[in-house]
Amino acid sequence: MTARTTTVADVPVDTRHWIGGRRIASAETFTTVSPVTGAPLAEISRGTAADADAAVAAARDAFPGWAATDRAERARLLHAVADGVEERIDALAAVETLDNGALLRSHRRGVMPRVAHNFRFFADWLIGLGHDDFDTRGHTNHISWDPAGPCALITPWNAPLMLATWKVAPALAAGNTVVLKPAEWSPLTASLLADITAAAGLPPGVLNVLQGYGAEAGHALVSHPGVRRISFTGSVPTARRITAAAAEHLTPVSLELGGKSPLLVFADADLDLAADLAVEQYDNAGQVCLAATRLLVEEGVAEEFTRRLTERIGRLRQGDPRDGATDIGPNIHPRQLERIDGFVRRAVATGARVLAGGGPHTGLGGLHYRPTLLTDVAQDSEIVQEEVFGPVLTLQTFTGEDEAVRLADDTRFGLAATLVTGDPERAARVSSRLVAGTVWVNCFFVRDLRAPFGGSRASGVGREGGTWSFDFYCDLKNTVTAP
Ligand code: NAD
Repeated sequence: MTARTTTVADVPVDTRHWIGGRRIASAETFTTVSPVTGAPLAEISRGTAADADAAVAAARDAFPGWAATDRAERARLLHAVADGVEERIDALAAVETLDNGALLRSHRRGVMPRVAHNFRFFADWLIGLGHDDFDTRGHTNHISWDPAGPCALITPWNAPLMLATWKVAPALAAGNTVVLKPAEWSPLTASLLADITAAAGLPPGVLNVLQGYGAEAGHALVSHPGVRRISFTGSVPTARRITAAAAEHLTPVSLELGGKSPLLVFADADLDLAADLAVEQYDNAGQVCLAATRLLVEEGVAEEFTRRLTERIGRLRQGDPRDGATDIGPNIHPRQLERIDGFVRRAVATGARVLAGGGPHTGLGGLHYRPTLLTDVAQDSEIVQEEVFGPVLTLQTFTGEDEAVRLADDTRFGLAATLVTGDPERAARVSSRLVAGTVWVNCFFVRDLRAPFGGSRASGVGREGGTWSFDFYCDLKNTVTAP
């Protein structure tokens, strides 16, 4: 018999699935270990294909009632979920930090308020959602946004509850029911979300949480014929497997994947701003899909930019993410740390020069990797082409706009790009030539949920945000009525 609840950061967390409004355990469990303390945090139910079946059945049973619930009532319930999140911000932040190692102060001030905002935003957007009817030779075209059915939502560990609710909120607002499968390295806050939705009065089966490994619970879920939409955030190799599984039933898939985004610094840039934006790329120990990890700097200012950046890197404080003075916490898992270090060692072995960092933080032990800056890297090298997902940036130089665009664009990814320039016309010219879902000019990470979000090329398929989320989670219908 496995434990049903465990206490993490003084918060009780149920370790079982949440299916049809009930807690259900699997026979087997897996252990989630804290990247902060190195200690096991909980034994979590290890979902099977039978558990995935049960979760989809619960979502299917709840679907007609939820789909028929009028928009105002759905919106009211989602606002009640947001209230529940806001009441528990400290608990959610403390559990998330212990489970995935990201900074407690960011969770408290930025991430968990954004989780609540995800629910409020899509609840309000639902109310305004519509299409004006139009006329064709006297016939009326009426477009309706019909909910699609049970949705499988698969999420990664780098921003667990934020990314989960970025999918849960629009899927539920649209009138769908969901099965959320959180990442096995950070499963805890999804369980707390189930408690919050139940307390808010969400009917049983509208939100289900299936715990477990990707290859087991995740695979069973995305292969399930009862699933009408799959929304996935994670890595490219997993996206391929999910897309292949979805092909069997032609289930529509939304993919938000990795990146290798450029940060272009032109000679006319404010170099302090450029260095500030560059050092931000180490946030969350580099485990950010949008991070601009390729610094491309115009020849004439490269030396001065490097000086200002390395000075800032030297001031970053690594340590316990629960400490308010810490800038960079640990990476998520020993396997991830090993992976990051492998990229850096192979880059150095093939000629890269280390300007900062270059290895684990031996003084701190555990899973801390030094913020690393590498130069003398070839454009076709692994370190320039592959997503490291750790605190590692490369620095290359360019001469003129054409070379800047050529280097920036020479990637299989297309998630984001950042430009730093004092010339608005240059900013407009360059951003129009780049392939990216988001381009930031003289800023970074300014996000508005009304905007389309997603990636091009290997960074993803589809866009979410505002109406784009409803486009994905709904079956749009046009009813044409004769006069
Ligand atoms: P991952 O692909 O290893 O896992 C993501 C999720 O997929 C997990 O829940 C996992 O259990 C599940 N999964 C694994 N195999 C599966 C399968 N066969 N079927 C169904 N589900 C399966 O990714 P990760 O390591 O957790 O996350 C890091 C990646 O996510 C990086 O590439 C990062 O860039 C990307 N990411 C992208 C965005 C974005 O919005 N574009 C945001 C955050 C992270």
